[in-house]
Amino acid sequence: MAMRSKLVAGNWKMHGGMAQNLDLLGAIVAETAVLHNAGFAVCVPYPYLAQTQTLLRDTPIQWGAQNVSQYDKGAYTGEVSAAMLMDFGCRYAIAGHSERRALFGEDSRTVALKFRAAQAAGLIPILCVGEMLDQREAGITEQVVAEQLDAVIESAGINALVQSVLAYEPVWAIGTGKTATPSQAQDVHAFIRDRIATHSPEVAAGLKILYGGSVKANNAEELFAMPDIDGGLIGGASLVADEFIAICRAANN
Ligand code: PEP
Repeated sequence: MAMRSKLVAGNWKMHGGMAQNLDLLGAIVAETAVLHNAGFAVCVPYPYLAQTQTLLRDTPIQWGAQNVSQYDKGAYTGEVSAAMLMDFGCRYAIAGHSERRALFGEDSRTVALKFRAAQAAGLIPILCVGEMLDQREAGITEQVVAEQLDAVIESAGINALVQSVLAYEPVWAIGTGKTATPSQAQDVHAFIRDRIATHSPEVAAGLKILYGGSVKANNAEELFAMPDIDGGLIGGASLVADEFIAICRAANN
């Protein structure tokens, strides 16, 4: 079995401020310095990428953006390209977060283009997939996740997943305090890995699949103990130094 190291990535969403970021990143740098068994990253709002780069360069913590344009350059007012993110030392860009899909109209085709644009520039896309509550209740979780995943595989090809990270984020668990149980999450993670394995067992075995949805210090350990959960994408708790650091420790153990 392939050994996959764990990754904890914070998603600050539209939160932060220069003074607040300084405190938060300072604490994370100090407290994660002794954790060598897992990877850590923060995905910050675009305007704070320069500050984040200054504070995190020469540390093991990576950083990234929460979105990326599907276009390279041109008359796309308000957009930020993958090459621009590379200019600020980003390693990651989230693609297809449920808030982007639901609130900003990103469909699976657009998400696939963003995934490809990120990779083409040298970023590692963190591709988010996940079902809404009514879809889970209707028993179509696997169908929804498969559609979101297949759109990227069809567009980018199975081998593109090698330089990527997946995040399973049930929408009903995001920002709600309602975490999927470890076994609910594990079931979907295993489904995703099995589906990828039908194309390539090697790609499936090496791929990090993060869980996201109300991960906190008090539930991270049991989630991360599941065989197909390779870390977490952390929203609310990534803004609280002690919470985020505790989640990093849980991934490191
Ligand atoms: C997220 O924003 O991806 C997320 C999982 O949020 P939260 O941890 O707050 O549920």
